[in-house]
Amino acid sequence: MKTIKTQVGIIGAGPAGLTLAHWLKKHGIESVILEHRSREYVQARVRAGLLEQNTVDIYKYLGLADRLLREGQEHHGVYFNFDGQRIRIPFGELTGGRNITIYGQQEVVKDLTDAWLAGGGALYFEAPALSIEGFDTAHPIIQFEYEGEPGVIECDFVAACDGFHGIGRKSLPKNSFQEYSITYPFGWLGILAQVAPSSEELVYAYHENGFALHSLRSSKVSRLYLQVEDGEQVENWPDERIWEELSVRLGTEGWSLQSGPIFEKSITPMRSYMIDNMQSERLFLTGDAAHIVPPTGGKGLNLAVADVKHLVDGLVDFYQNNSMRGLEDYTKNALKRIWRAQDFSNFMTTLFHKQAEHGSYTYRLQKAKFDYIRCSKAYATTIAENYVGLPFEAFI
Ligand SMILES: Cc1cc2nc3c(=O)[nH]c(=O)nc-3n(C[C@H](O)[C@H](O)[C@H](O)COP(=O)(O)OP(=O)(O)OC[C@H]3O[C@@H](n4cnc5c(N)ncnc54)[C@H](O)[C@@H]3O)c2cc1C
Repeated sequence: MKTIKTQVGIIGAGPAGLTLAHWLKKHGIESVILEHRSREYVQARVRAGLLEQNTVDIYKYLGLADRLLREGQEHHGVYFNFDGQRIRIPFGELTGGRNITIYGQQEVVKDLTDAWLAGGGALYFEAPALSIEGFDTAHPIIQFEYEGEPGVIECDFVAACDGFHGIGRKSLPKNSFQEYSITYPFGWLGILAQVAPSSEELVYAYHENGFALHSLRSSKVSRLYLQVEDGEQVENWPDERIWEELSVRLGTEGWSLQSGPIFEKSITPMRSYMIDNMQSERLFLTGDAAHIVPPTGGKGLNLAVADVKHLVDGLVDFYQNNSMRGLEDYTKNALKRIWRAQDFSNFMTTLFHKQAEHGSYTYRLQKAKFDYIRCSKAYATTIAENYVGLPFEAFI
């Protein structure tokens, strides 16, 4: 039996777990990370790609942003299309200089993993955590498996950064939280294509055929999405059909979409989920372990990093001042931003997706919102400040 002693036992080497480990190290707090999957698998997992201003600032502060600043693309605005009519929301202008950066989640994970291992950090891949025990005492343990052998982490605190399907949420006492969820009756067909982006900024589009999004990953790779019916199969979408539909839905006068070889194609269901308690004694949940949002607002990864900030504040308070106060307030502090993100993600999803017959009452409300954004700087500012992410001070 392998026994490891540390201060904070971290389950999951996604954005939340890796960011937490680095941030704790900066404060001289030790941690060990367990990751269920292999290094190759985790680093190849294509997911989010939009980093809020806060997230970029945190990686700069942690000294982890060299490649992000070199290869990431800062965006100063976003385009919204409605029935072929296009407007631009200029972030920096409306939010006092706050922007977003496009940089793939797998690149963030790669940078953080490389830096962690290069600095001698402990990270066990293909080491699933099997149970979390004793978190109602000062000596919790995580039982895990590594190279076919059982292992134990003995620690002061457990951080379950183990995503939606992890064991963290399942370990919380059943009556300690309430669940909230919505499943939208559509999904996203997402592609990665070897083609230069046709727009230098993201384009969100409502079209009577459904929603489409033009995003990007680099100067040579485009990321695009189409609203598809719930339960749709990738096999029904040959490449030609995808490009044809993207062109129609994203089309505006004087603009055309460039196509290229598609090298990744998948369908993601659209749902929101959260619990209203993210801790129990010495067990804390961060990121997707406690909440997921539809990707329309680009909030998933950013929320995970924001949770980590609140958890680090609490842990630093404990180790430096021997106070549990910050940790006791962890859920309360994190929930304010999570509800804001739930609302904004729902707003963006219902603004742009086809939910009812084109021309229906629901459609007219969507169109009314779009028309209002066009004419009101105040409304556009509300969207911009949510999109780039509100500063931490806003939620005090
Ligand atoms: C298909 C998909 C597409 C997405 N697209 C977008 C997008 O376009 N924009 C956006 O903002 N967000 C998107 N998201 C959401 C975003 O990727 C997540 O919010 C983000 O990954 C959250 O980070 P996390 O560290 O909390 O969880 P994760 O990234 O899920 O990391 C959790 C880690 O824990 C590991 N783990 C789980 N169980 C165990 C265990 N028992 N023992 C050890 N390790 C374990 C997992 O293998 C994983 O590596 C997407 C998510 C998915 C699933």
